Amino acid sequence: MSAKNPKVGFVSLGCPKALVDSERILTQLKVEGYDIVGSYDKADVVVVNTCGFIESAVNESLDAIGEAIAENGKVIVTGCLGKRPEEIRAAHPGVLSISGPQDYTSVMSAVHAALPPKHDPFTDLLPTPRKRGKKDDGMIEGVGLKLTPKHYAYLKISEGCNHRCSFCIIPSMRGDLVSRPVDEVLREAEKLAMGGVKELLVISQDTSAYGVDVKYAPKTWRDREYQTRMTDLARGLGELGLWTRLHYVYPYPHVDDVIPLMAEGKILPYLDVPLQHASPRILKLMKRPAAAEKQLERILRWREICPELTIRSTFIVGFPGETEDDFEQLLDFIDAAELDRVGAFPYSPVTGAKANDLPDAVPEDVKQERLARFMELQAQISAEKLERKVGTVQQVIIDAIDGDLAIGRSKGDAPEIDGTVQIQDGAAHKLKPGQFVDVRIMGADEHDLFGLVADKD
Ligand code: SF4
Repeated sequence: MSAKNPKVGFVSLGCPKALVDSERILTQLKVEGYDIVGSYDKADVVVVNTCGFIESAVNESLDAIGEAIAENGKVIVTGCLGKRPEEIRAAHPGVLSISGPQDYTSVMSAVHAALPPKHDPFTDLLPTPRKRGKKDDGMIEGVGLKLTPKHYAYLKISEGCNHRCSFCIIPSMRGDLVSRPVDEVLREAEKLAMGGVKELLVISQDTSAYGVDVKYAPKTWRDREYQTRMTDLARGLGELGLWTRLHYVYPYPHVDDVIPLMAEGKILPYLDVPLQHASPRILKLMKRPAAAEKQLERILRWREICPELTIRSTFIVGFPGETEDDFEQLLDFIDAAELDRVGAFPYSPVTGAKANDLPDAVPEDVKQERLARFMELQAQISAEKLERKVGTVQQVIIDAIDGDLAIGRSKGDAPEIDGTVQIQDGAAHKLKPGQFVDVRIMGADEHDLFGLVADKD
């Protein structure tokens, strides 16, 4: 592209779903002939994709907008915090435009107004997105620009959510569930595979609800019929021979159907199940999906079908009304369920969430004390579970080379949120990012595994 192309700076904050929104906006910018630049002073205008999930994310987003205004001056704001424009304008009256999540049209209109495109995309030849490998600009043919490393990609299967968890404002920001047709998702996955992606991370707000809104509409892909539902999608993705990882799955009975696909090696034996609590009383106050399901029984049954299964979850401690008894039920649950990977957060109110009106707020010092007890127990469980892997051989995907080490992940580790496998002789074996290798596990701590490239028998 010419040095005279208009230049856009981009700041992407928030969760993987927001990252996918950023990828779509950046793809459109590139298709229209904008250059994406990595510093404020080189940019003609800056887009900030914000997060508004909890107060710390709101503050981080407001700080990012402030920094972009101070450094560049021309700032377009989009994303979840865009649903609260008065808050943004109060802090930063100079922003050029504000739009909410997935509102790609508004972002592009704001960019066009601030910085007209150099060519007319309707009459000029569109720049062809390049295949990865030719020039490493993150573009994949037929899919667009990816912000993740070349070897893995997020696959967003739906937008929005039909639940109304009392601590969450996502449905008010992203709307009700809208599922993408299963053939469209499978075609995107196929193109990602052809572009060099080795691992797909399936994301949504509620993966187990996929297709409910379209009554599980059947579609055709590769001459076979697939319903727009999680199990059929997983079956189709399993045909691609990639690592496929399911995130944001709730413990509904029909999730049982996907576990045999894990046992057969079609998709990874990994489930990210955000449980948030284990006390039925608190789950009811939280208005959690599948709150009435017997979580522990279900998890134990999954493990019977697929003993290799890794379960990741997140929990909130100190939710309004949580008693010592509720909290101990939570500790008993994580002890019995032996969850492999767990994140925990002290409850923090989100502006606009229904949970703010609940009585019996838990004092801050009690929240912190419970969080510490929770994390201590989980660290022990996690360390014991990882210790059981010492002596085994695990298939690992390489993420990076760091000196003599190769840093990778096993089937039980999602990027960014879980642990790593550190391969001491990785550089000596000339391992490269994206490569699969068998590793003999020699040691473990509470997060990570350590090993050596396994000899081929
Ligand atoms: S399932 Fe609950 S927490 Fe998750 S997005 Fe929907 S409302 Fe929010």
